[in-house]
Amino acid sequence: MFKLHFDNAFVRDLPGDPEQGARLRQVEGALYSRVDPTPVAAPRVLAYSAEMAATLGFSEAEIATPEFAQVFGGNALLDDMQPYAANYGGHQFGNWAGQLGDGRAISLGETINAAGERWELQLKGAGLTPYSRGADGRAVLRSSVREFLCSEAMHHLGVPTTRALSLVDIGEPVVRDMFYDGNAAAERGAIVCRVAPSFIRFGNFELPASRGETALLKQLVDFTIRRDFPELGGQGEALYAEWFAQVCERTATMIAHWMRVGFVHGVMNTDNMSILGLTIDYGPYGWVDNYDPEWTPNTTDAQRRRYRFGQQPNVAWWNLSRLAGALAPMFAGVEPLQAGLDRYAAAYAAADRTNIAAKLGLVECRDDDVVLMQSLQSLMQHAEIDMTLWFRALADIDVQTPTLEPLNETFYDEAKRRAAEPVLNDWLLRYVARLAADPLSVSQRREQMRTANPRYVLRNYLAQQAIDRAEQGDPGGVAELLDVMRHPYDDQPGREAFAQKRPDWARHKAGCSMLSCSS
Ligand code: AMP
Ligand code: MG
Repeated sequence: MFKLHFDNAFVRDLPGDPEQGARLRQVEGALYSRVDPTPVAAPRVLAYSAEMAATLGFSEAEIATPEFAQVFGGNALLDDMQPYAANYGGHQFGNWAGQLGDGRAISLGETINAAGERWELQLKGAGLTPYSRGADGRAVLRSSVREFLCSEAMHHLGVPTTRALSLVDIGEPVVRDMFYDGNAAAERGAIVCRVAPSFIRFGNFELPASRGETALLKQLVDFTIRRDFPELGGQGEALYAEWFAQVCERTATMIAHWMRVGFVHGVMNTDNMSILGLTIDYGPYGWVDNYDPEWTPNTTDAQRRRYRFGQQPNVAWWNLSRLAGALAPMFAGVEPLQAGLDRYAAAYAAADRTNIAAKLGLVECRDDDVVLMQSLQSLMQHAEIDMTLWFRALADIDVQTPTLEPLNETFYDEAKRRAAEPVLNDWLLRYVARLAADPLSVSQRREQMRTANPRYVLRNYLAQQAIDRAEQGDPGGVAELLDVMRHPYDDQPGREAFAQKRPDWARHKAGCSMLSCSS
């Protein structure tokens, strides 16, 4: 079969649970439990990522074999795969939740590809584990399509993220109460094969720390630095401090990208924060249509809106503080951890300024440009302006005599547009005055803005349309949408329909504007 080379460092080098299998339990003194995927009725590949397949060394012919569906549907293992579920905890919506762990994700192994890169393969929805906590270990097709598509879309947008290799229909139903209203129904089930250099989360460190398992915590930190941060030098506390600061920096970079492209994660619990600064665990995420820092797609969070769009930079800092608390036993004092958190603040502020310059088409971001951007964002919020369309079209305004003409398509509400027109025109005048003081030529500016402001993002209603078709048995919409999202910064003639603002019918439709955690 497939010639993958495995080097399963995580299970080889770290202590595991002596018990195997999926019996529910608290697992102490161990960082994972060995458990195999539960076989499924009839696995069938619905979609795959050509880029990820090429990276891992799969040919198209191999993907078309029945063996591929068997392995990535959880029915067969390749030689040297050593499946396990990771043991971790987490802060959920601000509260310590204790042991969580991979309740439906099962890692198969760490492959080393032809380029020498390490890629861990993980099936999400592969069946029960010791961490399933009374749930079924499965995932429905709709949430799997969303995770599959968004992982790859984010990658092509240049946002650090876990990846997706395949989407496999399991050929058996999964029962979910989508609206938590007592109306459970059978839905199609699916498995995504996620791929990342590591799936270690903040919560992997928090759990042993919470139990006073300091030696175990230190083992995991040493392992993570050795395997995933080999570029870091030094030793002892200085090394730990630099590592934590790196985690903070990477997290800042990731969040700044989210804010640049209008992505809302939706469930920024610390068990959903990657130690590599990758976007991880695509659940009830969403894309901002009309610019609104108050918006969250997650119905479970609709009251407090803890994880709303504009709050994400602060939440990341709070999550890093929880990680710092977990790492405290590794340090004599708190200063190095405080320095790491300061690094987050500085790195985020710098990345935010880079975003402002890039999105507005400026060589550099001056202090008054921050103000210029803030006034624009406030106007966009109140006038209900589509974020993606606005920044894309802003590159097309006439810098001599600017008008709103190129921006006409970006409004959702005619009355609000008319009301905001005078202030928006004022803003455009301020903007072109600023451009006049910037050295970029018109074409250079347009080029820069086009590489920072995507034309295509995975709007919620687009994903929902692909899901509706897939649920009817036609996965073609998934492949088509993935293909559009492979080149999000290019104008793709004939695909204008994918670059339009959210249609009215999608404004309050389930899956398009609001998503529950049911998945
Ligand atoms: P999430 O909010 O998706 O990050 O999930 C939080 C926790 O619940 C993680 O430990 C998941 O593994 C677990 N979980 C979510 N859905 C399921 C499921 N259907 N079966 C088992 N565990 C689940
Ligand atoms: Mg999770």
